[in-house]
Amino acid sequence: MAFDDPNDDMMRKPVDRTGRKYGRLTVLGRVEDYVSPAGHRQRRWLVQCECGSPAKAVMGSNLQSGVTRSCGCYATEVKRSKRR
Ligand SMILES: [Zn+2]
Repeated sequence: MAFDDPNDDMMRKPVDRTGRKYGRLTVLGRVEDYVSPAGHRQRRWLVQCECGSPAKAVMGSNLQSGVTRSCGCYATEVKRSKRR
C-alpha cells in the first residue's frame, strides 16, 4: 500500500455533473470555467434543454441551487399561461 499521492489533494476531484438532470436540462459535459472580473472561478457545464433549443453553458452553482432549470423556455411558458 502506497501512501496517498500528495497530488491528489491538490487536485480535488470536481463534482462530475455529466449526465445529470436538473429540471429540463441534461448536463452534456464540462466547458471552460467562467472567471469573474474579481478573479473568482465558477465551473460551467454544457446543458441541453428538453425543448430542443441549442445546448448552452450554465454555472454549476446555478444548477445546484435550482436557479437554472431550463433554457428559459419554462419561464416563458409560465408567463404565457398566466396571461390567459
Ligand atoms: Zn428549453
